[in-house]
Amino acid sequence: MSVSSYATPSPALQREVKRRRSFAIISHPDAGKTTLTEKFLLYGGALNLAGSVTARKNQRATTSDWMDLEKQRGISVSSTVLQFEYKDCVVNILDTPGHKDFSEDTYRVLTAVDAAVMVVDAGKGIESQTRKLFEVCRRRGVPIFTFMNKMDRPARPTLDLVDELESVLGIDAYPLNWPLGDGPRFRGVYDREHKQVHLFERTAHGSYRAPVSVKGIEDDSVKAAMEEATYAQVSDELELLEGAGAEFDIARVLAGELTPVFFGSAANNFGVQLLLDRFLELAPPPVARESEGGKIEPSSAEFSAFVFKIQANMNPKHRDRVAFIRIVSGKFERDMNVLNTRSGENVRLANSQRLFARDRETVDDAFAGDVVGLVGNYDLLIGDTLASAPGVMFDEIPRFPPECFAYLHNKSTAKYKRFRDGLAQLLKEGVASEFTLLESSGVQVPLLGAVGPLQFEVLQYRLDGEYAAETRLEQTSWSLARWLKPKEGDPLAPEARPSLSLGTALARDSNGWLVALLPSEWGLKTFEDKNEDWIISEQPFAP
Ligand code: GDP
Repeated sequence: MSVSSYATPSPALQREVKRRRSFAIISHPDAGKTTLTEKFLLYGGALNLAGSVTARKNQRATTSDWMDLEKQRGISVSSTVLQFEYKDCVVNILDTPGHKDFSEDTYRVLTAVDAAVMVVDAGKGIESQTRKLFEVCRRRGVPIFTFMNKMDRPARPTLDLVDELESVLGIDAYPLNWPLGDGPRFRGVYDREHKQVHLFERTAHGSYRAPVSVKGIEDDSVKAAMEEATYAQVSDELELLEGAGAEFDIARVLAGELTPVFFGSAANNFGVQLLLDRFLELAPPPVARESEGGKIEPSSAEFSAFVFKIQANMNPKHRDRVAFIRIVSGKFERDMNVLNTRSGENVRLANSQRLFARDRETVDDAFAGDVVGLVGNYDLLIGDTLASAPGVMFDEIPRFPPECFAYLHNKSTAKYKRFRDGLAQLLKEGVASEFTLLESSGVQVPLLGAVGPLQFEVLQYRLDGEYAAETRLEQTSWSLARWLKPKEGDPLAPEARPSLSLGTALARDSNGWLVALLPSEWGLKTFEDKNEDWIISEQPFAP
């Protein structure tokens, strides 16, 4: 078997691949991501699951202990994958953590999706976290669909909201529907494609499908439903929009250049089905991905997948470790033997599960686009490729430069082993990264780097809760890392050293690469000027 067999689609698998939609919902905290997820589940008939999403958010009753931290902080640390069938689609929603400091984890999850739904609070417009997540999706060329939420509350002017997508995010926007008023005067949406009006009738807090009636915009009953001023305004806006004559171009949507925009209210279950139906029609099924050895067709008969997330101790009663894989091609079957193409080792995928909070369900088969949790101590690292043939290697996981650095002291020498073991496990999960200073005297206290300070907090919390290792954090004043290679000569040679400026230190990362730790952007300029014969990279070099 060779890598070239991955380029040939298998008709038997094409149907399964075509009906899959794997996506993430991205938003700034509080814009309504959880509510929208819950409503999607409602349409998928997964009503009991819909209840659990709220339970997870509000009571966190069904989650494991370390998620207490989430409860205390009101944030979502972990990501879950939800799968349900809707119409003929198999829908995979990958939940992303909402807090900004968990962006690294979120970014990794976004490598496993084929599309994204961006939820915007229509009263606030684009917020900081939305912008960051949007950027990651755009860099990957992922198609993005926009849902302007909370139209039942006073919203920013509709045209401004649409303009903002273009002016702030730099993506062209095409409203597929248009809101009829906002706040107390919100009466529904006008579906521009089908020239239909969906009227909003307030129901008892969105716990069931809101009834909608469909009529034309000029219909007298539509005029009657709206206040005169609102009707006049909406008519003007729509005229302006139609007059602009922009075309809806699905190819540009799929290229990530144009975002279809929908309006509604997730909490009131309004506009959600319009979004879901059209999204599932327009969003792409899994597409071919590039691997080191060539293109991998999703419906190829050969299996391949990559690890995008690892998490230990999700269930505190069993000290387990779950590696989440996204299937890229072929059919996953329980107990199958595959190759870890990094280590060259064979792995038998015996314990494969779908996870929902604490509920688990064994997975017997799965296809491209699906996510499977492998439970157990497989020797897997984030970014690893599993494949039925050698030579396949995905390079999907972005590496991010840390911006905070701190020493992690072990408080009790008697518990040193637990401390080191726990730390090793959590570093493997990618919670933080470790650096070894070149010039240091005496005992080496682990020096850690993270994208955000909350990552350290999670690390300490989990070391304490899961490994009974209490720690103390000592902040440092470095805020930048730059990876270094001499332009000539052996980059890993021990004697190769750049010249240092004040406050800068040299360290090695876990792959042995030389790293400069710098206090500020200002120091960076001096450092770069002094070291013109060095390659100075913002990105870590590959192992
Ligand atoms: P997340 O942090 O993005 O997951 O946001 P949530 O789904 O938890 O929603 C945040 C808050 O906004 C909650 O109190 C929701 O009930 C509320 N919310 C969500 N959607 C709507 C909506 O359409 N209208 C109104 N008025 N509130 C909403």
